Amino acid sequence: MKGIILPGNSTVELKHFDIPVPGYGEVLIKMKSSTICGSDIRAIYHEHLGKGPERYQGVIAGHEPCGQIVECGPGLRRFKKSDRVIVYHISGCGVCNDCRRGYMISCTNEKYRRAYGWQRDGGMAEYLLAEEKDLIFLPDELSYSDGAQVACGFGTVYEGLEKIGISGNDSVLVAGLGPVGLAALMLSKALGAVKTIGIDIIDERLKLAEELNLADHVLKAGPDNVKQINELTNGKGCEKTIDCSGNDRARLTCIQAARKWGKICFIGEGGDCFFRPSPDIIHEQKTIYGSWVTSIWRMEELVEKLVRWGIHPDKLITDRFPLDRASEAYALMSSGKSGKVAVVFDEELK
Ligand SMILES: [Zn+2]
Ligand SMILES: [Zn+2]
Repeated sequence: MKGIILPGNSTVELKHFDIPVPGYGEVLIKMKSSTICGSDIRAIYHEHLGKGPERYQGVIAGHEPCGQIVECGPGLRRFKKSDRVIVYHISGCGVCNDCRRGYMISCTNEKYRRAYGWQRDGGMAEYLLAEEKDLIFLPDELSYSDGAQVACGFGTVYEGLEKIGISGNDSVLVAGLGPVGLAALMLSKALGAVKTIGIDIIDERLKLAEELNLADHVLKAGPDNVKQINELTNGKGCEKTIDCSGNDRARLTCIQAARKWGKICFIGEGGDCFFRPSPDIIHEQKTIYGSWVTSIWRMEELVEKLVRWGIHPDKLITDRFPLDRASEAYALMSSGKSGKVAVVFDEELK
């Protein structure tokens, strides 16, 4: 089968691999959609910067896989051939405290914690070998490209939004309108947010957020953002703010543009954040939450909600490429001038 690896110099290498044979508790998945994540670009594509859980070990790339089971190893308990499945992208030991909570992202067993596309083969190939315990059913109402986005981005966003509790009481600010920020806007609306405001530095992204009808207001990132947001919210600020940019300034905007008693969630990775604890947080009774990926049960819950709400994450995909053209897909994603970029197969190619 064909698959790609990322050598780390902003190139993509297409190689041939043997099709894996599923062992006990494992399945072989025919890939249908495999989307590119911002962290693939940040920690692997340009240069192998990742450490610890983000250390890339030269495996087949891609940690947002979705496809169909075509072969089953012995000992399966729930899934079967022809099931459509999303893969939770970290395979944990299954028995540490974090795994038992469903947060395999935080598995503490160094020997058994392996993320698809980082330490074990991922979704940028024709087939993927996965463990049954890492699978989530993809309902017929959702496309494979909907599912691929749940595997990382939408799951991560949903976790953060649940932590700060978005509802019809809230106006919501999202800083950073890459695919994760767009997902935050889409899910905030679905959860009932009465007003959504998006900030970014890149015009194409602001335009996309407006065109997709996800942001009621978009603001170009700049020194007046807090003032602008206050003007849009009767001088009060937003009840809930979410940083998806990882940018120092944008994080400060999220803190200062949150209303008194507001909740702030940091999802975007890397960088720094400088704020004055007394005026910015303590005297305003504000709370900052950090959120990293999600649990497998919450991902399963999100899939159910997406069907109930009738919304489709694949709407955020602006560009689709076949596997042979994966190098164009990564280059486009790294330019920041697209929405979500997907490598797709079979019926998802249209
Ligand atoms: Zn990711
Ligand atoms: Zn574990």
